[in-house]
Amino acid sequence: MRQPIVDFDRDEAGDWRAILACGHRQHLRGLLSNLVYGGLIRRRPC
Ligand SMILES: [Zn+2]
Repeated sequence: MRQPIVDFDRDEAGDWRAILACGHRQHLRGLLSNLVYGGLIRRRPC
């Protein structure tokens, strides 16, 4: 099931994470982070 992204935070290493509606966190790395900032948020099944 796809889970909407409800928020973002950063982990201890400073890497961005998306917080999904189900409560899981998904790391956003490299170019993917740039896509998020550009509005193209990639959603994956949890
Ligand atoms: Zn989940």
